[in-house]
Amino acid sequence: MLETTIAGSLPKPAWLATPKMLWAPWQHTGEALADAKRDATVLALKEQEDAGIDIVTDGEQSRQHFVHGFLEQLEGVDFAKRVTMGIRNNRYDAQVPTVTAALRRKAPVHATEVRIARAHTTRKLKFTLPGPMTIVDTLADGYYGDRVKMAMAFADLLNQEARDLEALGVDVIQFDEPAFNVYMDAVKEWGIEALHRACAGLTCKTAVHICYGYGIKANVEWKQSLGSEWRQYEEIFPALAASRIDQVSLECANSRVPLELLGLLKGKDVLVGAIDVATDMVESPEQVADTIRRALAFVPPERLFPCTNCGLAPLDRTLSYAKLRALTAGAAQIRRALGA
Ligand code: ZN
Repeated sequence: MLETTIAGSLPKPAWLATPKMLWAPWQHTGEALADAKRDATVLALKEQEDAGIDIVTDGEQSRQHFVHGFLEQLEGVDFAKRVTMGIRNNRYDAQVPTVTAALRRKAPVHATEVRIARAHTTRKLKFTLPGPMTIVDTLADGYYGDRVKMAMAFADLLNQEARDLEALGVDVIQFDEPAFNVYMDAVKEWGIEALHRACAGLTCKTAVHICYGYGIKANVEWKQSLGSEWRQYEEIFPALAASRIDQVSLECANSRVPLELLGLLKGKDVLVGAIDVATDMVESPEQVADTIRRALAFVPPERLFPCTNCGLAPLDRTLSYAKLRALTAGAAQIRRALGA
């Protein structure tokens, strides 16, 4: 009960990539880079285990960015043809690659890091992939001429990838869809359908992570513009509750999400964000326990998984692992209180 997990990413060691930034440049190339990624993956697993996390990830140590990591290996995506594009409804600009031809997956993208992770932990392993809607919101289209058509093409490639990773022993495949909080109508029109395509035929657990973004300046300012109550989830949770996705990961710590909205996810596992990724303050176990306790009013304990609000990639490394220890200590308090 109350198995702990993380949204996905963790900070990379300084010897792998420049710390505390998104899209951080690698410190190595070629074989040295492959070795460094491998070492960082093993370390990230060990640190999560030591912190007491039950469902671990590879910490996304082999990816520069949670979206572009998958795209880099696909045929049809041209990284030499980068354009500046406003993303997440123009919340911020990003340098994005362009789709210039029909999309095709030449080979499994993340098999190497999954093999490494699976060989080095006996705990349940979750692997994160970008969701189709978030992908099409983070690259330019010079080929399909239709956002939905392009999203469905990505969903098919994600499905091939997810099936391969499941066969390598992944227990949970999670699709990251921060765009679901921005284009709520599109979620209902085609976003969930695209996720279903990405999940087709999987027998492992499937999850979708929907947050208010990393703790970067543009996101913090955007959150300040959203008013005293954030009700984006209210528009999409009923559709998600009716979907075939098993788990929903969301943001609760220090957020203005009214927690009664969690009640809209009946029948789903709920990954409750109890660690804020937008502050350098480490939560106390009591603060974590308080968030979990409030969520328990709307989610039964066997369906509640204490988690982080979002990825920890841009944060300080020492700080991040302190936050993970607070997460597990807070969860343990509640477990004791429930007599589990
Ligand atoms: Zn997130």
